[in-house]
Amino acid sequence: MDIIFNSINKFDKIADKYSFKTKETRSILNPRKGKRYFFLEDYTLNPYMGCSFDCSYCYVNGSKYANNTENFIVKSNAYEITHTQLKNKVKKGQRGIILIGSASDPYVDIEKELFLTKDILTLAKRFNFPVHIITKSDLILRDIDILKSIQSSAILPNDIEEDPNLKLIISFSFSTIDDKIAEIFEPFAPKPSLRLKAIKQLKKEGFFVGVSLMPILPYITDSEDILDETFSKFKEVEVDYVLYGGLTLYGDTEKDSKIKYYNTIKKHFPEIYHKTKSLFGGNIGPSNLYYTKLSDNIKKIAKKYDISLSIEK
Ligand code: SF4
Repeated sequence: MDIIFNSINKFDKIADKYSFKTKETRSILNPRKGKRYFFLEDYTLNPYMGCSFDCSYCYVNGSKYANNTENFIVKSNAYEITHTQLKNKVKKGQRGIILIGSASDPYVDIEKELFLTKDILTLAKRFNFPVHIITKSDLILRDIDILKSIQSSAILPNDIEEDPNLKLIISFSFSTIDDKIAEIFEPFAPKPSLRLKAIKQLKKEGFFVGVSLMPILPYITDSEDILDETFSKFKEVEVDYVLYGGLTLYGDTEKDSKIKYYNTIKKHFPEIYHKTKSLFGGNIGPSNLYYTKLSDNIKKIAKKYDISLSIEK
């Protein structure tokens, strides 16, 4: 029998502290479309919609992939619907890696009191599903016990070669390792220094832990020197891999990432405002030439620190 941690029946009390709405969802487990991507997921699952960390570059704002981060919604029937869907998947033999945190951080502040992510993890453990969690928060340390159980009991999908590391994957998301820069772009997320500490602790506990270095910020965190320093910090905490990606900007309203990001750099980095705009040239991302150079630099630096750029061996 699982212990249910969530305090969904205490919504009224919690609502006084956090601003959110609730919504019943018809489905929570979204199957991957197309071939396996580098996060290795078969399904994505987000207990929350929107994200109180509200990073100014967040692709969710203005893209077609999810709702706006400012409309923070708790999926009130997340536990029940996850239970039903996982049970059905097991019956149909459709096992797979569940990616938690693709469109909203699973450890947003309200999770401290709501325990919804913790309950979803309990269900993953109960039905032996492997999990990949992406987060910016050290609150994940609270759930070490359940994470350990998933790590020891998950069953990998048939098309993945048996590898105990892939049963429970933890990726910490960074755009920078500099606390001051993070305060500008990710004002409500736990500081990068706390994330690095959490990685160190999780590694000590025997977890497979890497980094999602996304987005790398043009003219701010993309120079060879800064990337070198970034990888050296990741090496210090013994990450197992680094996945990386550039910045993409979407939309044209004040709430969309393109406008939010440009407003942020206009205020804090005015010297690169025009350069950045011309790098994007009205597109959602910089030119292929920019990406090739960035990629070449990262491959060189990853080699220097002997850090893998993919999760699989
Ligand atoms: S933590 Fe992730 S999902 Fe949340 S606002 Fe930042 S980039 Fe978006």
